[in-house]
Amino acid sequence: GAPARVALVTGANRGIGLEVCRQLAARGVRVFLGARDYEKGAEAARRLAGDVSPVALDVNDPDAPARLAAGIGPVDILINNAGIHYDTWETALKADWRIVREAFETNLFGAWRMAQAFAPEMRARGWGRIVNVSSGAGSLASMGAGTPAYATSKAALNALTRVLAGELAGSGVLVNAVCPGWVATDMGGSGGRPVADGAGSVLWAVDLPADGPTGGFFRDGRPVAW
Ligand code: NDP
Repeated sequence: GAPARVALVTGANRGIGLEVCRQLAARGVRVFLGARDYEKGAEAARRLAGDVSPVALDVNDPDAPARLAAGIGPVDILINNAGIHYDTWETALKADWRIVREAFETNLFGAWRMAQAFAPEMRARGWGRIVNVSSGAGSLASMGAGTPAYATSKAALNALTRVLAGELAGSGVLVNAVCPGWVATDMGGSGGRPVADGAGSVLWAVDLPADGPTGGFFRDGRPVAW
């Protein structure tokens, strides 16, 4: 049969990213599980069935994505899942710049560097899926006070999604932003829905057919207002 698709998931040693790896591997995809702490990634990968390989990847390291691309070769599916600083304690007027910069470094620039490193080869091969794991908190339509670093960085990630989708239009590479919903993880806390559901929202954008949407923002396969 056809060779297995290859996927790379960032921030995958726990939470939604780990569950995305589990679901991809369960359907026969060859998965690279990215973790900024390699040992944590290796430990997580050992708990999964299927073809799952841990890789060291700190998306804040400017050189790491290109270095990794040189190491593992092309991937078909890129899940920009690594995310940080749901800053419920902050206000924009008093925000700690260390938090703001780190949120943008990871949530925006990290995903951007990953696209730079891996999208050109997808385009050259005529098939690819890039999923930027965003948040309803990044929706301008519903944005107000609260989580300033997180909300603005996710809104910017949504903007990046549009720009990348525009550049890659017609190439066979679909780029979408996805909200996983409120999910019970370290970030989401208790009370959210199971990680399986959050990961399912992400997987929907991987499973899109060739004529599926690109440059959109979705939760559970339904459009979310920008
Ligand atoms: P978690 O906090 O549980 O996990 C975050 C993951 O990102 C960890 O594996 C963490 O690694 C990793 N990470 C953080 N910084 C970096 C970095 N610089 N390089 C590589 N990996 C990094 O979060 P969730 O699983 O809940 O969230 C996953 C995504 O879903 C995020 O983008 C989040 O914004 C989004 N989201 C989550 C919602 C929720 O309700 N949970 C709601 C809406 C969106 P480490 O273990 O080393 O810290």
